[in-house]
Amino acid sequence: MPYIQFLGAAGTVTGSKHLINTTYDSSGKQGFQALIDCGLFQGQKEWRERNWQDTPVPAREIDAVVLTHAHLDHCGWIPRLVKEGFRGPIYATQSTIDLCSVVLPDSGHLQEEDAAYYNKRKVSKHDPALPLYTLEEAQDCLKRFKPVAVGQTMQLSSELAFRFVRAAHILGSCMAEVTLQTNGRTRRLLFTGDIGRVRDSVIAPGKVVHSGPQENETADVLVMESTYGNRQHPETDPRPELARLIRETAERGGSVIVPAFAVERTQKFLFILKELMETGQIPRVPVYCDSPMAIRAVEIFMKHSEEYTPQAADLIRKYGSPVDWPGFTFALTAEQSKKINESHYPSIIVSSSGMVTGGRILHHLAQRLPDPKNLVIFIGFQAPGTRGAIIKGGAPEVKIFGQFVPIRAQVAALEQFSDHADPPEMLEWLRTFKNQPGTTYLVHGEPAASSQLRDRMKKELGWNVQVAEYMERVEVK
Ligand SMILES: [Zn+2]
Repeated sequence: MPYIQFLGAAGTVTGSKHLINTTYDSSGKQGFQALIDCGLFQGQKEWRERNWQDTPVPAREIDAVVLTHAHLDHCGWIPRLVKEGFRGPIYATQSTIDLCSVVLPDSGHLQEEDAAYYNKRKVSKHDPALPLYTLEEAQDCLKRFKPVAVGQTMQLSSELAFRFVRAAHILGSCMAEVTLQTNGRTRRLLFTGDIGRVRDSVIAPGKVVHSGPQENETADVLVMESTYGNRQHPETDPRPELARLIRETAERGGSVIVPAFAVERTQKFLFILKELMETGQIPRVPVYCDSPMAIRAVEIFMKHSEEYTPQAADLIRKYGSPVDWPGFTFALTAEQSKKINESHYPSIIVSSSGMVTGGRILHHLAQRLPDPKNLVIFIGFQAPGTRGAIIKGGAPEVKIFGQFVPIRAQVAALEQFSDHADPPEMLEWLRTFKNQPGTTYLVHGEPAASSQLRDRMKKELGWNVQVAEYMERVEVK
């Protein structure tokens, strides 16, 4: 019997890895094995340690990877999978491949920097501390990527095919509709990856991709994310509040620090800042976009304008490329990055990583968190255990580079920038399904989020819903 095994993002929001095996044979014969997503575990140590463990199925026995989108918790383990012996193709949309060509080498670079830092300080129990993968290894794995157009059917084996449909989560993001044909039966498996905002209005400002996930789906098995399963996004326009927070910080001589995923979320946020400045709602303080991949990320963002909503396309037409905006600086070298820290004038610093798990944001926060004049704004999901979640949760201090840094700066969070659907939106989308899936497995959520969404789906839709467990293997009947 074919099965799905949840190798990650089960019981947590990171490390997405769902294995499909077309035939499970008790004699040990393996069928075709495809991995839907291959993400990095982030956050709590218990999960991060799994990045260092081998896959339960040897990497060389996995035949293909289908990648839903370019967030690290979905693609960040690919270089390691290749390092462990995976030799198959990795299918993704062209926009996802373009994003990965920036995101994955950057992740490798960060891994190397972290290992070097631990070795210098001798604070790792591993001697020497090694990177999970290097920049070069990350670049190398890009050769395995194969572009697949949205809607195009891709035959993986005689039994397994898939096509991408829009997920409306980030640039290039898609769900994978998988068709499985074994023993004369056809089953449809839908893997949502991350689901974007369903409604496109002021409550999801700056939304860049389409107007919502693909509607009218059919599925025998649905594997669905549940990041925001127990929370609802505010229904207010965040821009007035954002403007007020920035104005107040600038008036007291402080700086605004915004941890943001370097690709897409950052660009979306920059356009909102630009608009607030041009309409006189915030002062024209210098804006630093501090990420080694910032300029390349802008290029990718501008290249794929076909994916934007009319509202976002309008902003792009009106203001052009952020690289050319006066007062906006894109830092590239470590020296340029350090210069930002020497400035004592109010400024806005947008830097990654978005959950403060690594990257240049660490330096900016280590420097500015102790000063109550400053403001930190979170505009994305913070996985439990990450420094982002610790700061956002109101902790008095946070450990950065082995030192406890006191948190005296103002901390704010604007949930409206989320690129994930909330429960009312998810239910709205699920109601467009043409059939009731035999089973829905909830993944990519903290236990409380997944179980609340399960209860709600059972009650409001009457569907058979289960929360997937880490390493659990479920038969596709
Ligand atoms: Zn995502």
